[in-house]
Amino acid sequence: MTTAPRHRATAPTPARVAVVLPSIGRPSLGVTLRSLAGQEVTSAAPAPEVVVVADDRRLDLDGDPATWPAPLDVASLVPGAPWPVVVVRTGGRGPAAARNAGWRAATAPWVAFVDDDVVLPAGWLQGLARDLAAAGPDVGAVQGRLEVPLPAHRRPTDWERSTRGLEDARWATADMAYRREALEAVHGFDERFPRAYREDADLALRVRGAGWRLERGDRVTTHPVRPADDAVSVRVQAGTADDALMRALHGPRWREIAETGRGRLPWHVATVGAAALAAGGGLLRRRSLAAAGATAWLALFAEFARVRLQPGPRPGEEGWSEEWRRMLLTSAQIPFAAVRHRVVGTLAHGGVLGRPATAPPWPLPVAAVLFDRDGTLVHDVPYNGDPDQVRVVDGAREVLDALRTRGVRVGVVTNQSGIARGIVTAEQVAAVNARIEAELGPFDTWQQCPHGPEDACACRKPGPVMVLRAAAELGLLPAQCAVVGDIGADMGAAASAGACAVLVPTPVTREAEVAEAPLVAAGLAEAVELLGLGAEGDVPRAGAPVEPGEVAA
Ligand SMILES: [Mg+2]
Ligand SMILES: [Zn+2]
Repeated sequence: MTTAPRHRATAPTPARVAVVLPSIGRPSLGVTLRSLAGQEVTSAAPAPEVVVVADDRRLDLDGDPATWPAPLDVASLVPGAPWPVVVVRTGGRGPAAARNAGWRAATAPWVAFVDDDVVLPAGWLQGLARDLAAAGPDVGAVQGRLEVPLPAHRRPTDWERSTRGLEDARWATADMAYRREALEAVHGFDERFPRAYREDADLALRVRGAGWRLERGDRVTTHPVRPADDAVSVRVQAGTADDALMRALHGPRWREIAETGRGRLPWHVATVGAAALAAGGGLLRRRSLAAAGATAWLALFAEFARVRLQPGPRPGEEGWSEEWRRMLLTSAQIPFAAVRHRVVGTLAHGGVLGRPATAPPWPLPVAAVLFDRDGTLVHDVPYNGDPDQVRVVDGAREVLDALRTRGVRVGVVTNQSGIARGIVTAEQVAAVNARIEAELGPFDTWQQCPHGPEDACACRKPGPVMVLRAAAELGLLPAQCAVVGDIGADMGAAASAGACAVLVPTPVTREAEVAEAPLVAAGLAEAVELLGLGAEGDVPRAGAPVEPGEVAA
């Protein structure tokens, strides 16, 4: 008897994945990383290609570099991790910007975003591999299933319940894998969202708008409730400023489109109105008006507090008195915080009462070009301290003048470690810079790092600080800036800061740097053309730039 030769089904090649973790240095980062390192690795679920930690701890741009936090020592948090770790510093620009720098630092076709406060249970990596294997070519993202463990012996507090809300949140980036192609198609997260609030829904809507499907996978992630203080429920009201941005970007029906609840804003507006009536009546000595306002405010406050207390710990249950104190205190404060943040958010995007804010779509057009100095604007003379040795690159003046004519701001970002090395003095470098400005015309901003590599400062490229400082000086978001330079460090600084970048290689530029550059041009004229700022390009959009921090309010 013969049997047909058995064909072993060839196992499909597992998806290549980069894990991207934005972090503000919370102690939970180590827990998250160790839970990832502890995952069982199989041929069907290989280890991530790379784990990128976006270190988003704040760098005070005006402060002394000595006060900046030392780079995150991720290797010591997960010794012997079975994957390479890359750390990028993003300077405190929020999770949207940090995740963008993270996914751009990797090349894998799938990017698994994981927050630094989740714990990946055993089998998570297998679950992720299954979710991605099941994703058809039109699937742009697959969400994990979040589980928020709550205490079993008592009813949950307001903060515990609001964290549990993540279990039902659509597109929560606490565990969400995006296809790199989809991220590229929409230019990633909109960095105008300064906090973890609506940035994930906005990204999902734009990815869906670009024709991708977003799916819920089967893998499970544990999201513990973070410890919180009394004011946490008041602080999170800052998110209502992001609601204003969502309204400005997606129109009046944004809540419906984003499949999110109606929110309590109308209640809060009524509560603030009642308080204003009471205060106004008091000032005008109109007792009946003041009494009506006070009565209405008390009723609204009592109802709000009741709604928040009812599902929580009952008198006698553990922590009930603490919770009642917290709810009464914050129920009085929240309406004012919510209304204030909503007004600030609306004003930040040019809206006024009765006229909604508008915001241009992401990505924003380039409004400033920051040039590397040595090897880009001038021929590189290592550690040059002599103005007479300055030789500007052919055509640089014309390119700069054309940008100036079109209203594009220009700047210089330059590493001058010769100062730290004691080879040149700061005065000599200043004299060289003055000669460069005499030959190339005025620059709107000069940024210079005098430190050496051993100083591990965040301003020396590829650190982001010089680009962030230049953007702040020009009143622009980093995403409205582009960096043009001749080596990988220039590209790295731009990527960390969230700016665009074009490499203009010279004979010293390494092949790998050319291969990894987001854009490559043969000269400065071609570089600005690639940025849409060339003679043939459209005139950049006019209008007031977004002030950094305005949205954050
Ligand atoms: Mg250079
Ligand atoms: Zn520096």
